[in-house]
Amino acid sequence: MSRNIIVLGAGMVGVSIAWHLVRRGHTVTLVDRREPGRETSFGNAGIIQREAVRPYAFPRDVGTLLRVLPNREVDIRYRPTGMLSAAGPLLQYWLNSGGERYARITREWASLIMRCQNAHGPMIEAAGAEGLVRKGGWLELYRTQKAMDERLAEAREDRQRFGVEFEVLDAAALQASEPYLQKNLVGAIHWTQPWMVSDPGALVQAYARNFVEQGGRLVQASVEGVTREGSGWRVATSEGDFEAEQVVVAMGPWSGDLLSSLGIKVPLFVKRGYHMHYSAEQGATLNHWVMDAEKGFLLEPMRAGIRLTTGAELANLDAPPQYRQLAAAERAARKLFPLGKRRDAEPWKGARPCMPDMKPVIGPAPGKPGLWLAFGHGHQGFTLGPATGELLAQMMDGETPAIDMQPFAVDRFKH
Ligand SMILES: Cc1cc2nc3c(=O)[nH]c(=O)nc-3n(C[C@H](O)[C@H](O)[C@H](O)COP(=O)(O)OP(=O)(O)OC[C@H]3O[C@@H](n4cnc5c(N)ncnc54)[C@H](O)[C@@H]3O)c2cc1C
Repeated sequence: MSRNIIVLGAGMVGVSIAWHLVRRGHTVTLVDRREPGRETSFGNAGIIQREAVRPYAFPRDVGTLLRVLPNREVDIRYRPTGMLSAAGPLLQYWLNSGGERYARITREWASLIMRCQNAHGPMIEAAGAEGLVRKGGWLELYRTQKAMDERLAEAREDRQRFGVEFEVLDAAALQASEPYLQKNLVGAIHWTQPWMVSDPGALVQAYARNFVEQGGRLVQASVEGVTREGSGWRVATSEGDFEAEQVVVAMGPWSGDLLSSLGIKVPLFVKRGYHMHYSAEQGATLNHWVMDAEKGFLLEPMRAGIRLTTGAELANLDAPPQYRQLAAAERAARKLFPLGKRRDAEPWKGARPCMPDMKPVIGPAPGKPGLWLAFGHGHQGFTLGPATGELLAQMMDGETPAIDMQPFAVDRFKH
């Protein structure tokens, strides 16, 4: 039965949900204050991460904590105000990052990740976006044998349990494949399955265009409130009110504020990140997306130049940008690869929407019939948008979803 549905937020998650719903014959309005894919889904590293079957844990070993504490590292920075206002969720995050809890969360998380390419594939094809997508995987670079061996032990386990595929490159093989990288690396893990996107925002836009081609309606307006209206919902926006039988909240890092106005408290916090594009020094080429695993940044040969993306900054969503982490990453990146001039006038800043148990919220809002939730995809929302769209659409149509969705229910945060 066709229903009238409004999806709030046109990042990778919201666009993918809207795409699936319109495909199923529903009347769908997708609302965003910007064009599709201009926020977090724009500035990321653009990897569809089939290898990321372990959710991004809070560091628990004393060595890492002591290293991070002086706040001078490339991979993690924090602002005391940000730490303080997210203290509760961060403590839960820390508790969830080890032992049996982390093992269970990994199994649940991996059930989503393993669907990522089968979900992106048909959307890429329908949107005619093959030109934005590069197959063949990316390289995780290592400076010490010890760190590489530890990661390889995990990779072997992930191959066994979750079908992750990789190849090991020693120093010579890495040099042959990436001749312009600095010479003192011990090698790399080549994750061979992931797909890389040369302009992440453009992929979201291509999906959104295809949503419109299929009959979906795109509205550019700022969402100001959502209220119950009879048996449905009213969405107040800067461009007037819209009514629908069902509403999906997929506003990424901004989902929490809207939901608290509806009496739903979610422990959403953000890990901010930055990017900058560079030219390469004359004659130098970077053939793969590469991660400097022991420093904590990525370099991606994208359409706009070589994009440097930073690790996590624990700060409030709206705090002014702080470019020291990017500057530190740039210094390290210039030693790794001969980067040329900066190409953007200002660095880009975004915020990964994170939950304390590292899993997104996907499913109904309890006690609010017709209200659905999809946010909190953390480090892998670009990867997981389409799988989320497919699963949520199955739930909304009353079908049994392809995987157990209980681990992603919002009521897990009641206790
Ligand atoms: C540096 C960095 C690198 C990353 N690399 C990767 C990667 O390689 N692979 C990967 O899978 N993930 C990666 N991520 C994570 C990924 O980018 C996010 O998880 C994902 O983009 C979240 O998508 P989303 O749709 O939930 O949120 P968003 O893309 O932020 O979309 C939310 C939308 O809601 C809209 N909105 C908010 N408030 C309102 C309002 N009041 N009215 C109307 N509209 C509103 C916004 O305009 C926005 O378009 C990275 C993130 C960062 C920061």
